Amino acid sequence: MRVPPLRIGHGHDSHRLEAGRSLVLGGVTVPFERGLVGHSDADVLLHAITDTLLGALALGDIGDWFPNTDPQWKDADSAVFLREAVNAVQERGWRIANLDCTLFAEQPKLAPWRKQIQENVAELLGVSPDQVNIKAKTGEKVGPIGRGESISADAVVLLYRDATDST
Ligand code: MG
Repeated sequence: MRVPPLRIGHGHDSHRLEAGRSLVLGGVTVPFERGLVGHSDADVLLHAITDTLLGALALGDIGDWFPNTDPQWKDADSAVFLREAVNAVQERGWRIANLDCTLFAEQPKLAPWRKQIQENVAELLGVSPDQVNIKAKTGEKVGPIGRGESISADAVVLLYRDATDST
């Protein structure tokens, strides 16, 4: 069976908000009185995006690649994880067509930061900002997101391979 030269990937992540941590979303530090808790910098968006790429390649997930029991990833910049996943995409001859993401946070208001996050994510992926979309939603004051206890992120990516690409 001929398989079209396309791969779709999906990613989801969530982290708890606590005082005394920086809030880093898509590699951008967003001023807020609390930040996300995790073994790394807990950048929920970069984790979800990393999982989209690994998912599209059928290579498992971020926990397989960067175990949170490994001391070398303590407080790590999550851009390191994403760059590894981007390398895996490129090494296998795939290219990113587009990435669509949604952040779920009751607070802080993320609208003022969306463009900077979009541009930073595009740079990390090595694509144009118009291939990256960042949406932000609240939790409508219900559930852990709505109560401001956590922030989560969803991401979907499409990879393609040009007919002219040799692999
Ligand atoms: Mg995570």
